[in-house]
Amino acid sequence: MPLKEYREKRDFSKTGEPEGGEREAGRVGKVFVVQEHQASHHHFDLRFERGGVLVSFAVPKSIPEKPGEKKLAIRTEDHPLEYADFEGNIPEGEYGAGEVKIWDRGLYEPLEWNEDRIEVVMKGDRLSGRYVLIRFKKAGEKEWLLLKGKEG
Ligand code: MN
Repeated sequence: MPLKEYREKRDFSKTGEPEGGEREAGRVGKVFVVQEHQASHHHFDLRFERGGVLVSFAVPKSIPEKPGEKKLAIRTEDHPLEYADFEGNIPEGEYGAGEVKIWDRGLYEPLEWNEDRIEVVMKGDRLSGRYVLIRFKKAGEKEWLLLKGKEG
C-alpha cells in the first residue's frame, strides 16, 4: 500500500485532494511538479513521478536557481500521480490546510536515483537543467539538501 501514509493523513470527504489510484501507470515520460503551498508555513512541494507515485519533498524556503545554491528539503509521504494536477484550497482543520497552486510542471530525466542521492535533469517552464538532492543525515532521517547542479 504505497499511499497508506498519504491516505491516513487526509479526510477525502472534506479535502478536494485526489485519493489516488485513478490514473493508469505506464505513460511515456516522467512528470515532475512544484506546488506552492500557503500552509501554516509557506513552502514549495517538489514531486517526481517514480514507481507509480509522486516521490515528494517539501522545500521550506525557495527552489535554488543558481549552481551551488543549497536549500533544505524534507522528504514527505508519497502522493498519488493525480496530485500533479491538483490546485485548490485544502479546508481549515484538514491536513496541510491552505492554498495549493502549481508553480511549475514538466518532465524530468533521472540521471541517478538511490537512497542517498538523486540527480535529475528537469525540463519545466521555470526550472530547467540539473538538480541534485543529497541526503543530509546529520540533520535527520527525512532531511535532504536540494542543489542546482552545474550544467554540462
Ligand atoms: Mn505541502
